[in-house]
Amino acid sequence: MFWDTSLIKRTYIVTEQHRPCQEASWLPWIFLHLKTYPLCGKIKAAKLKFKAGEKMVTQLKYSNTNTYLISGKKGCVLFDTGWAGTFGLLCKALGEKNITLQQISCLIISHFHPDHMGLAGELAEHGIEPVIADVQLEYVHASDHIFRKENNRFFVPLDENKAKIVSIRQSRKFLKSLGISGELIHTPGHSPDSICVWLDDDRSLLVGDLAPLYELEMHKNTPTGESWERLLKLRPKRVYYGHAKTAELDSSLPAAPCDDDLYALVKRIIRLCEKGQTPERISLRTNAPQKLVKDVLQIYVTHPGVSINGILDRLEIKDL
Ligand SMILES: [Zn+2]
Repeated sequence: MFWDTSLIKRTYIVTEQHRPCQEASWLPWIFLHLKTYPLCGKIKAAKLKFKAGEKMVTQLKYSNTNTYLISGKKGCVLFDTGWAGTFGLLCKALGEKNITLQQISCLIISHFHPDHMGLAGELAEHGIEPVIADVQLEYVHASDHIFRKENNRFFVPLDENKAKIVSIRQSRKFLKSLGISGELIHTPGHSPDSICVWLDDDRSLLVGDLAPLYELEMHKNTPTGESWERLLKLRPKRVYYGHAKTAELDSSLPAAPCDDDLYALVKRIIRLCEKGQTPERISLRTNAPQKLVKDVLQIYVTHPGVSINGILDRLEIKDL
């Protein structure tokens, strides 16, 4: 029997959508029902105001998405959120860094896919103002149907009336009000509503799901390639991704070095999938654990054009 790749795609899309909720299913209930999240505020709060010489960006990883705190001189921005249902995990991640919800002034969302905006509505209810770029306005509810379809009881649709609408052209002025020197940049490619944050002082870019730089070759003359062309003119030193590992551009270009054997194994898994082999058969033929095969294929079918390094980076399996 030949493997139906559209079936893999459907299966994996469903799996991917459910995974963050499964991993977080009980924690939010505890946080919400015991009302413990205000305890975050009782922890002696770390200072989040940026001082010269300090790193402006702090990574918060509590779901499948990398989210970030940007510390300005007058306020702190959260960049992206996890899936709806991960609010408790966000609080826990903040608590571990000695940071309170109340210290966060606003939320900027790289794009309105469910793994980046899932908590936006809920965070707005807790006083964190959502910021919507003008180029994102028509996509704000693009993922609502996904949460409805999975009966996600945690999802709160975003109310634009509670949001701050910022024009991309005026974004420097907005960020300045938070003591951040930088701008929002419209970077279509992964989605038409994708935006990046550029930080002048850090020479850093937060790019959401824009394809990693080491895949640039395959995106020439596409919206992704054109977006990167504009971004690289800024001569960034560091790139923070929505899923891949942070790239330091002065020391080395992000070639994503990895174990040769693992690289060859992933390449073989992809080749066998393209020949129509089932994940079970691929696992038998390569001796790779079934979970690894399924994870590799999930990334392969849900990220068209992804490179082997891109798969390894996204799965964070280089250390296996
Ligand atoms: Zn994503």
